[in-house]
Amino acid sequence: MMARPSVAKREKAATVLGILEETYPDATCELKFSSAFQLLTATILSAQCTDRGVNAVTPELFGRYPEPTQLAEADRSDVERIIHSTGFYRAKTDSIIRMSQMLLAEFSGEVPQTLDELVTLPGVGRKTANVVLGEWFGVPGITTDTHVLRLSRRLGWSKLKDPVKVEADLCALFPEQTWISLCRVTIWHGRRRCHARRPACGACLVAELCPSFGEGEVDPVKAQALVSVPVG
Ligand code: SF4
Repeated sequence: MMARPSVAKREKAATVLGILEETYPDATCELKFSSAFQLLTATILSAQCTDRGVNAVTPELFGRYPEPTQLAEADRSDVERIIHSTGFYRAKTDSIIRMSQMLLAEFSGEVPQTLDELVTLPGVGRKTANVVLGEWFGVPGITTDTHVLRLSRRLGWSKLKDPVKVEADLCALFPEQTWISLCRVTIWHGRRRCHARRPACGACLVAELCPSFGEGEVDPVKAQALVSVPVG
């Protein structure tokens, strides 16, 4: 069984989380959707694609196929055309059409509300399932996307690389009621300041608590220039 993190480590992590929540009070999922089905579909499309790229195609996709009933019977070539720019469009088309068919066949057309059921759907892994659970159903879960993995390492929350193990480390470090917020603000911080290639350390409000301070630009003026504006 995994050892519980020390009180000091949990308190420090809570302090960092509090600062990130103050820095990004509006942090939320940046995908555009108006139902659990649309969020699930958009999250499948977001694999290897930015939210901005997904948001560019979903108005047409959801305009033509707003519910599983329509997408389950969609013309493949039409769906491939619409989502082409998100990459891996053939596999994604296959996933979202089969996911829709399975929703109708197994779940009365409704998106299930448990992790165990969600991961039985085509194209849906733990990460996608946790996005839907947290963002639509309000069920606490840790979404170990690329930003959460990178920031967990930089902030000293986990030394591991395997997403399932990092998820377990974060679950042990943070109280369950903070998990949804934790993922939102961590992803926002990763997109705006703690970039993969050149983190803006000199413009980072958790710099004093970060063991990786200096991995990026430390000059305040140059670092501020690296801070990104939100995706569309
Ligand atoms: S100090 Fe640098 S590495 Fe640490 S969280 Fe901030 S931007 Fe990321």
